[in-house]
Amino acid sequence: MQQGTDFPTSLRTHLIGVVSFQGDFQRHISMLHGLGVETREVRDPADLPGLHGVVLPGGESTTIGMLMERYGVTEALKARAAEGLPVFGTCAGLILLAHDILNSTQPRLGLLPVSVERNAYGRQVESFEASFSSPVFGETALEGVFIRAPRIRTWSSEVELLAILDEEPILVRSGAILGATFHPELTQDTRIHRYFLDMVQAVQAKKRS
Ligand code: GLN
Repeated sequence: MQQGTDFPTSLRTHLIGVVSFQGDFQRHISMLHGLGVETREVRDPADLPGLHGVVLPGGESTTIGMLMERYGVTEALKARAAEGLPVFGTCAGLILLAHDILNSTQPRLGLLPVSVERNAYGRQVESFEASFSSPVFGETALEGVFIRAPRIRTWSSEVELLAILDEEPILVRSGAILGATFHPELTQDTRIHRYFLDMVQAVQAKKRS
């Protein structure tokens, strides 16, 4: 991709891929554009070279996972993630990142050592909003939009719990992999996307040094 030289380094180095088979990928793209970041829709392994990070959107994890597998994106993305490419998944995206999905053999990336239970809040509260705060994001609370959300049931000791709601982790990180059970892309609050871009920036800085 051709880029001008008049951008600050931090923006010039960010090209974020958004897996765009199904779900709310457009909302992630809009949020990233709002942050001055270039994006590329990912539907094929050929879309991965040159990316500095990848986002997996919310949607239907079985559909997204099946299409990722069919078009070879799962294997190609796993290989890039093994080299340290940062990946951020929200809701269905988190499910696709999980090592284990309770009672499911659906295709996944398996990059995050957590087990998740899909649609785990039950029928009465399928969708809800809840505010939470986290020392990582300063004093102001964040708003979590939960839509048929998964719950993280277990996690390995290396997983950082970045935000907790009702004593359960809702935003977790392991190395360069970030996962949220909710949808930051459906709010106006850009703090979690900016956190991911900081992770991307840190990986880039390390490569240059
Ligand atoms: N329930 C969906 C799934 O299991 C996830 C919902 C969402 O991404 N909002 O894939």
